[in-house]
Parts: sequence; C-alpha cells; structure tokens
Amino acid sequence: RQPIIAIDGPAGAGKSTVARQVANQLGLVYLDTGAMYRAITWLVLEKGISIDDECAIAELVNDCRIELTPSQNIQFPVQVWINDHNVTQVIRTVEVTSQVSAIAAQSAVRKALVQQQQNWGQKGGLVAEGRDIGTHVFPDAEVKIFLTASVAERARRRHQDFSTQGQAEVSLEQLEQDIAARDYKDSTRTISPLRKAADALEVETDGLTPSQVAARIVSHYQD
Ligand code: C5P
Repeated sequence: RQPIIAIDGPAGAGKSTVARQVANQLGLVYLDTGAMYRAITWLVLEKGISIDDECAIAELVNDCRIELTPSQNIQFPVQVWINDHNVTQVIRTVEVTSQVSAIAAQSAVRKALVQQQQNWGQKGGLVAEGRDIGTHVFPDAEVKIFLTASVAERARRRHQDFSTQGQAEVSLEQLEQDIAARDYKDSTRTISPLRKAADALEVETDGLTPSQVAARIVSHYQD
C-alpha cells in the first residue's frame, strides 16, 4: 500500500494549503475531508431541512454522491460536487461555515463520510486533512501531523483568505469568535472529536509560511 499522511488540527491552522503542497511534492492525492462536511451542510441548507432534523439529514447523507475532482483553477484546485451541483465556492460562505460543526457532530453524517474516506484510502497514496484523520479515519497512517496556531493567527489567515476571494468583509474580531466557537464544538462533540493522535507530531505554525510547514512535514516523512 502507498503511504497515508494524516493532517489534523483546528480551523485555520493552514491544513489545506500545507496538505496540498505536501501532496504535490510527494506525488500523493490530496483529500480535503472538511469539504465533504461542508458539502452536506450546503445541501441541508439548500433543501431547507432543519439542522436538528437528524433523521432527514441521515437520509440525505446516505443518498448523496460527493465527488472531489482536481482542476486547473489556482484559487480552487479541487472542485467539490454534491449530487452533480458544483459547490466549490458556496461551501466557503459564512452561512455554511457557521452550521457545519453542528452537522458534522451527527453520527449518521460521520458514519457515511468516514466510510467514503476509508474507501478512497484503501490503496493509500493520500494526504488527508481534517479533524479525526489520525485518530479515527486512518489510525494506521504512516505519518500523523497535528497542526496548531494561536486563535489570533488563525483569524488573521482566514481574513486574508476572505480578502483574496473578494468575499464580503468580515471583521477580525468576528472571525476570532467564529473560529473559537467552531473549535469548541469540534473538540467537545461526543463522536471522534478534534484530538491530537498520541503518535502525531505537533507543529505549531505561528510565524511559519505554508512552504516551511510543508517542508518540515516532508522531511519528517522521509526520516
Ligand atoms: O476543515 P474545514 O474548516 O473545512 O472543516 C469544516 C468543518 O467540518 C469543521 O469545523 C468540522 O466541524 C468538520 N470536520 C470534521 N471532521 C473532519 C473534517 C471536518 O468534523 N475530518
């Protein structure tokens, strides 16, 4: 089997950029599991289903098709599809971001998406990024990384992402609050909460560029 590199950590720790760079450098496939939770959240909101209606959401998640396809688009190098809707951009809105943790805490949702991630990872060859990759999805991953950064640093990065995407201005203070709220929900939920795996290497990324973090991970993998 080809290797699996698991990268976990809280919102805005730089997981996506770093995971993509590591995947490119090592010739592995990049898997953004957060995009899958965001896609199902978008569909729930689109269909007007209440986020508390776990039965309806379970039915939806068991009957939907999520696809992640590579693209030449520099800003969105992975295109995200759910039931043939291209949701690459709409899953990044404030609306989806504010609801995703509540939906990601539901057992039927996690069961279905984790199953799909494990199917994709059967032959290895992945850099998978999320909250529960090293602890739950791929507990046998060859390399496990836990990325962290201070809340202030993470809010600053999100702020920069929003400006480059030309999205409506959200204040730094608001972003800090949103990130802290999402971290709280993600780390206190009952099913596979956000945790550092016992055998993960923790990398604190304040003041480091994504390339520096990626280089550290690649050299850790090669050791
Ligand atoms: O990484 P991203 O911010 O896109 O993830 C969005 C949300 O999806 C997280 O806040 C979390 O609630 C959920 N998630 C998860 N498990 C993963 C990846 C993401 O619960 N493996």
